[in-house]
Amino acid sequence: MSKRVKGNNAFYFFMLDWRKRNKCQKNLKELAADPACSEEWQNLTPQQKGYYQAKASESKVASQGIRDKKTGIGESIKELEANDKREQEFQENMHQYINSVVAMGMQHKNLSKLKFILIHVNWFFRRETGINQYEFFPAEFAVAEFSLEDGVQNVYHEILNVKIPLGWRRDALETSQQTHQIPIELAEGQSDFSLMYDKLTQLLIRNKTGNKFPPLFTTKDVTLAVESFLIKMTDAAKASIEEFSVYSLEALFGALRNAAAQNVNNCSIPLVVAENEFGKDVFFSICGIECDFHKIIDGTAQYCSQSVVTRWGYTICDYCCEYLGIEMIEGVHCPVSSLSASDQNTVDENISSRFKNLNIGNQKNFVEINGVSTEHRRKVSERTYKEEQRRRNESKPIEIIDHSKLNATKPSTSSIANVPSRPLRLPKTKSYTSEDVNESSDLLSDANFPPLGRGRGITQKKKSTNTKLTLGRGFL
Ligand SMILES: [Zn+2]
Repeated sequence: MSKRVKGNNAFYFFMLDWRKRNKCQKNLKELAADPACSEEWQNLTPQQKGYYQAKASESKVASQGIRDKKTGIGESIKELEANDKREQEFQENMHQYINSVVAMGMQHKNLSKLKFILIHVNWFFRRETGINQYEFFPAEFAVAEFSLEDGVQNVYHEILNVKIPLGWRRDALETSQQTHQIPIELAEGQSDFSLMYDKLTQLLIRNKTGNKFPPLFTTKDVTLAVESFLIKMTDAAKASIEEFSVYSLEALFGALRNAAAQNVNNCSIPLVVAENEFGKDVFFSICGIECDFHKIIDGTAQYCSQSVVTRWGYTICDYCCEYLGIEMIEGVHCPVSSLSASDQNTVDENISSRFKNLNIGNQKNFVEINGVSTEHRRKVSERTYKEEQRRRNESKPIEIIDHSKLNATKPSTSSIANVPSRPLRLPKTKSYTSEDVNESSDLLSDANFPPLGRGRGITQKKKSTNTKLTLGRGFL
């Protein structure tokens, strides 16, 4: 009787045990055929057999672990699949949360009163801590409450002072210069992550639903930075990162817009369109909503976290308020017009008065568009007569060199004419390559190109020589 014996078979482990006990020298195949061994196996109690079965299943698990397939960059495929599944579940939960909150808001006619928490983080640099895992070194952040009725409110904003590790200063400086321009390790910046955690949670507690913090909404491009920032805060405060959920602001925007529009026109937009529309950042160039730090640095307003969260609020209102019949209030639902009506009148008066002063015929009274008269400009910037005379006296006459005439008068031995005046003679020696070719002149012989089926490709033997090739052979 042949028994199927495998490394993960209970009988296999029994045989190993039996061989040891009986000090037997037989191999496993012989043992499997040994009637004494088989008989003892047959007479084992279920408990005794269970011991060997447990060993077999342990071995099976272990061997599967060894065989766990990896990707080209060493990631475990099983782990990747598990991560994908987790991510899919997270996305489903997120969409379910957003849809149910928005649906409840519509049902109870309080959609415009619902508060959502928005968060944006700027960073100096990021470093890889694992496969597709990054640690961000934050530079600034802003968290705010948002509702369609009240717009963006209660902004909690900080400029940060984090220690930049050795070797990363250049990256940090480059990111800063190209975007937010926050100096690294700014003394006035906030460095107490535990304190920031407390302030953030105070804001979240006010918006708690049940015993959970409300989710934090942010855009796709900032999600990893926000998650990394939350880890830094929870680590400092010895709290759990599980308390926080970071959800897609684009998904919220799409759901709010679709809910708001459903009573007016039943044209809902899919998530991908919502993402695209939101990404346009139509209020990109709005100034005056940035933090105090960014107000004093030209050309950085659009990068400011406080400006970003406020613009997000304006964008959502821009797409939803009209459908819901919410009156757009400047500074709440949309940016404040850069010029009020009275400011515009003042500007108009100024321009017309400037144009009145434009008298082309009278040079003395001529006022340029920047408000400076020609007379004043001359007075402060022109040279005096004395200065002009001194400048002329000090000046050297201009020397003109005519190279065409110089060549004609000078002999042809000048450095310019240092080129061979006669053609090079033909080389007297042969090149080594052609020498070799002649040595075995019959290259197309049967030895080199035998008929098919008798083997091909005999390498041509090169003549061994110790003579070194001289440079420029053929010139001497
Ligand atoms: Zn700022």
